This record gives sequence, structure tokens and C-alpha cells, in this order.
Amino acid sequence: MISNPLQNSIQYIKSVGPKRAESFRKIGLNTIKDLLFYFPYKHLDRSSILNTSDVVKIASGGFDGEVTILGKVIESELIRYGKKQLLKVQFKDQHGYFECVWFQGIKFFKDTFHSGDTYAISSKPVLTRYGHLQFAHPDFDKISKEESDEFINTGKIIPYYTLPKALKDKHIGDLSIRKIVRNAVESYAELLEETLPEDIVHSNKLFNLSEAVKSIHFPESLENLNKAFLRFKYEELFYLEILVALRKSKIKDFNKGISFVTNKERIKEFLDNLPFDLTDDQIKVLHEIRLDMESPKPMNRLLQGDVGSGKTIVALIAMLLCVNHGYQAVLMVPTEILADQHFKNITKLLDFNQDYKLSLLIGGQSKKQREKNLADISSGDSQIIIGTHALFEDIIQFNKLGLVIIDEQHRFGVAQRAKLIDKGILPDVLVMTATPIPRTLSMTVYGDLDVSVILNKPKNRKEIKTIVRSESKLPEIYNFIKTKAFEGNQSFIVYPLVEESEKLDLKSVLEEYEALKSTYFSDIKVGLIHGKMKWQQKEEVMLDFADKKYDVLFSTTVIEVGIDIPNANIIVINDAFRFGLSQLHQLRGRVGRGNEQAYCILIAKEGMAAKSSKMNFNFEYLSKQQIEKNKSAIRLNSMIKYSSGFDLSEIDLKLRGPGDLFGTKQSGLPELKFVSITEDTEIIIKAKEDAFKIIHNDPTLNNHSNQLIKKNLLKNFKENLQYYNIA
Ligand code: ADP
Ligand code: MG
Repeated sequence: MISNPLQNSIQYIKSVGPKRAESFRKIGLNTIKDLLFYFPYKHLDRSSILNTSDVVKIASGGFDGEVTILGKVIESELIRYGKKQLLKVQFKDQHGYFECVWFQGIKFFKDTFHSGDTYAISSKPVLTRYGHLQFAHPDFDKISKEESDEFINTGKIIPYYTLPKALKDKHIGDLSIRKIVRNAVESYAELLEETLPEDIVHSNKLFNLSEAVKSIHFPESLENLNKAFLRFKYEELFYLEILVALRKSKIKDFNKGISFVTNKERIKEFLDNLPFDLTDDQIKVLHEIRLDMESPKPMNRLLQGDVGSGKTIVALIAMLLCVNHGYQAVLMVPTEILADQHFKNITKLLDFNQDYKLSLLIGGQSKKQREKNLADISSGDSQIIIGTHALFEDIIQFNKLGLVIIDEQHRFGVAQRAKLIDKGILPDVLVMTATPIPRTLSMTVYGDLDVSVILNKPKNRKEIKTIVRSESKLPEIYNFIKTKAFEGNQSFIVYPLVEESEKLDLKSVLEEYEALKSTYFSDIKVGLIHGKMKWQQKEEVMLDFADKKYDVLFSTTVIEVGIDIPNANIIVINDAFRFGLSQLHQLRGRVGRGNEQAYCILIAKEGMAAKSSKMNFNFEYLSKQQIEKNKSAIRLNSMIKYSSGFDLSEIDLKLRGPGDLFGTKQSGLPELKFVSITEDTEIIIKAKEDAFKIIHNDPTLNNHSNQLIKKNLLKNFKENLQYYNIA
């Protein structure tokens, strides 16, 4: 026996023993503490179980939610309708009868339900035209004999645990695991050491750890269960925000960044040569950036602006501010063609003044070119350096790096910044993203960044017309593209695949390019671009397209990000259901960059096209399964309904659901298990406030009162801490 009983083997829990302990070990549960933290995946609330007469009443009243009902299986039968079959299972409770039906997986369900067994059924009730109470494809749980007494006779909320094979093999079922966990909770939960500071628990009226563990297994009421969840959500967020706050304080703490002095004349000279006026929002964010750059604290700012809102100019002016003060500025972008495009555009925009020296640094350049670039960068001859992540290779020696701008990458690496700091450089950093980050996320994962937002696009833009069409309409669409081509407009046609695939029933760009260029498009000029080409080839195609040498560009998603061809105003996206929402929005952003009316045509299979054009969904009335089932249609429908990336990103987040918090791993932060980024806004705000206050007052966590936090950080978040100064 070890001194801390919680660290003892599970075998010491009543009704476990060495054999069962072995099967727990197989699923990664060794100690008593491990078992205490083996939380149920769901609960059934006895008090919410209804009987048939209640359910019939509410169903006939038009009730639209889910109910849980308990019933005994009477019989099951297969029923033919047309060429298909369905399975109908009859149930009975003390008040009457109900039936459950399945249209898919019939064989499995037929073997599942045996007469005499009792089940808890959860689903939306429906009254058939014969007046039968019916549930289609419900959730269900088998209730054992003892259990049904427990259900009927006690007013309890019952936990359900995942039962992997290793446990089932040792005959550990719903009932026995419940008993085992109950024994563990009764004898050991009290011994758990609190992991949150006492005043935090107190001021937020949280359950302490023991209470929370007890209640998450065996809550006395739904309210208690919610309080248990609240405590774990809070704790998860608290430590995440402590990490974010530490990161922020580490950067701000240096206070030895560069205080740039703005050279107003040279900025004015640039603006005078710009073919358009800056928008109000561009001016506003530039002001925020300028204040950061003038201050000795290193800038750590996120610039959010929808696709096409004009972030590049903002970046360029920030870079001019930097180089006018004698420092080098770097613009890092995710792809080579984008780097190439930026380089060309920026060179053009700076054409009026030969003093500005630019370099483009990307893979695939000749050895001579590369050596010259490296020499220019280290001697300080080049002032504005544009490139891909290759810019952060060890071999690159900057002469006097003052500003790093990272474009179109919302998951920028903490590691990359840390690398620079390790080189003894503390540049100002600006991260730009066109995928707006929902408010809750920008408070958590990106909580260490200051945020600037460009809300409105330049005024000349017309709303892009977005429609969903079935594949059968493609010939008409090709004709439309052709007519537009004769009027001088250019189009993109996007495909999910480069080459045909046997596994996927999707269109490929090579195949369609070959097929269409000699048929529908034989009298106009078509080009081809995809990810398997070398960047020089891609560059050539993009330049030719920009030069109007092609009317139509066949492409894959290589054009997804950043590409700016103002004369292109139609984009057709094939197999659109395959793409994520932010990807669709990015692709759509390739058009509508000039004065002409632009079109985005999303192609889907027949049924999907009709469904997504018509649907009128509301997340509040959709169950998780319904959302899961209709994801693609909801995405396409949202593209029709919303033009703002900000609206779409909120929808995207709801579609992804909790647990799929993008970017947390890359950002060096722990993943969230309990928190739903979309639903738990209040807790997020509160945990952030608490954590930031603590770090503000004690950035190295050396105060006596913060030792508990430090201890838990070092114990549980060691790998997240490598870039912080408390370890
Ligand atoms: P993004 O924010 O997607 O990176 P870009 O910076 O590529 O957008 O700008 C999109 C297009 O809008 C470019 O062609 C750019 O020249 C143009 N643009 C930028 N600012 C303005 C402005 N103030 N007025 C008119 N056009 C602008
Ligand atoms: Mg851009």
C-alpha cells in the first residue's frame, strides 16, 4: 500500500479484485484516482421519464422535442413497403403501447431487441395516422431487471459509462461498473486534493473537486449535475487562460521592443501614389498598428478582415513604417504562388520610389538566386522580404529584423515566434487572417493577441450572387461562362481532385480540363493549374490568367487563399459538398474583387442541390444528429444566405461542434474536453478574467498564494509550458 490511497491499484476497491483490475488496466485505468476520473458519457434522468399516456398527450399537442420513455419489448416484425423494408418493434408500459421503427441497419436492430427486455427509449415522439405513438431511429439503452426497479423506485439520475471490450469480457456491465464506481466514490472521493485556488472556488460558487467528482457520477439532481460540469469546465478554462496570460505577459514583459518613429512624409508619398483611397476601416486599423509600433512593447496583434477587405495594403504600410526607420520587414505567406503574387504586386506599388529594396525567398529558386537573397538579407540590403515559412529556417540571418507579418494563417506557430526570440530578436508581430475567429475563440486560444478588425470592404464591391445547382445544369453553366467570356469576363472552375480517383466519386481537374477544352470551350481559351505543378509553372499560369491570356482557369484549391485577379468574376465549385465552410468562403473570395457583378456557383448532386437551396434551418431546433446528418446541406445553404465571413465562421463553429476546437494543438494550448466554445461564453469570460488578474499581479507565479496553480501547471501542462518562463 502506498501512502496516498488514491494512488492505490483499482483492485482495492470493493468488488474489483486483481482479475478485474487487470481488465481496467487494459483500458488505461490503473489507480483508484483514475477510476474516479472515468466520467460517465451520459446520464438518464429518472424524473424525466414519461409514460405512454403523457407522451401521446404532448405529441398530439405538437411537441417538437425529445422524450425518454421506458418500455418492455413485445414483438418485432419486418414490414415491406415498395421495394424496401422497415423494422417495427412493439413496446408496452403500464399505460399503453408504443412502437419504434428503423429503416436502416434493420438486421442489427432486429437482433438487438428481444421480447421481455426493457429499454429506455429517447427520441422525438410522433403520432402516426392510425394514432400510434411512434419513434423513428431512437436512442436506446437496455435496462436490466434490477435496474428497472432502480429506475422505477428511486428518483435517481443514472450514469452510463463507456464499456470497452476488455471490461465486457470480464462481465463488467452497466450495473456492475456503476456499483464499482459507487464504491470508489463513497470511500475515496473525499480524499481528492483541490486543484483550484480556494478563493476562486469560493468566488465563483463552484463545487470543490470532491463534490464535483461525486456529482458527476451520481448527481442528486440535474442542478447538481450541471454544477459538477460547470466546475470542470471552469477548471479547464482557468488553466488554459493561465497559459494564455503567461504567454502574453512573457511577450509584453520584455518591454524592449523597437519604438518605431513614423516618417509621415514617406507614408504620404506612398498614399499619393496609390490608385485608390484607403477605406475608413483600413485607416482605423493602421492607426492601431502604428501606436503599437511606436511603443517599446513588442506588437502582438491579429488583423481580421474578410476576404477581399484589403489587408495587403495595410500590411505594406506597416512594412514601410518599419523600413523607413531602418529595419527589415518580413511578410510570410502560406503558399509559394501567393508569395510570388504579393512580391509582384508590392513591387508595382513601390515602383514610384527606387529606394525600396525587396526580396522574394521561396523554395525552388536557383542556387545563385538563393545565395544572393541570403546575402542581401544578412547584409541588410533587402528591406522588405516576402516568402513562405522557409523564412524561418535557421540559415536565414536577418540584419535588423523589426517587423514580422504573417498572412492568411490563423494558426501561426508559437514555435516560430519563439525561434525568433531565441535568436535574440524581438520584432513586432502582425498576424492577418481572412477566416474570422469567433469572439469566444479569440478570447481563448488567441487571447494573448490584440485584435484589429476591418469590417467593411472597399465601396466599389457588389454582393456576389451565390447559387447551388445540380450537376445536370452544368451545360447551361458552361454556356453562361462562354457568353461572359465573349464579354471579356474571366472564370474559375474548381475541382476537389487533381487526378481521377478510383476510391472517390469526385471530379478531377485533369479529366474535366481535357474533356471540356475540346468540346464546350473549344472556342475560348482555357488554362490549368493544380498543386502538383512546380511553383514556376503555377506562376506562369497565374500571370497569364492575370494577363487575360485565358478566359477560364481550371483549378484545384491551390487558388483558395489570397489570389487576387480582379477581372475574374465567376467561380464554379464542383462537388461543393466536399469543402468546408471557410474553404468555400475563401474560394468565393477569389471573385468579386472588381466593379463587375460576380457569381459563385456551387455544384451538388441533384437531391442535395434542391435541398440546400430550399432549406430553412435554425440551429436551436436541430438535434446533434440532425446537424450531423445535414451538415453539407447546411453549409451550402449558409453560403447562399450569408456573404460575411464573420457570420459563416459562427455557423462553421456550430457545425464542427465542441471537441473539435481548431488550432488549439498548433497553438501550444491544451485541448478542451468539457467546454463548448459556442455555448459556454459566460464561463469563458469569467475564467479569462480571473486568470489574467492572477498573472497580471504575479507573472512568474512566485507568490505563496499561487503555489497551487504553479504546482498544477507543472504537473499537468508540462509540454505546454516549454515557451514560458515559470518552469
Ligand atoms: P485581402 O484582405 O483578401 O488580402 P487584398 O488585400 O488582396 O484583400 O485586396 C483585395 C483587392 O482590393 C485588391 O485588388 C486591392 O488592390 C483592392 N483594394 C484594397 N484596398 C482598397 C481600397 N481602399 N479601395 C479600393 N480597392 C482596394
Ligand atoms: Mg490577402
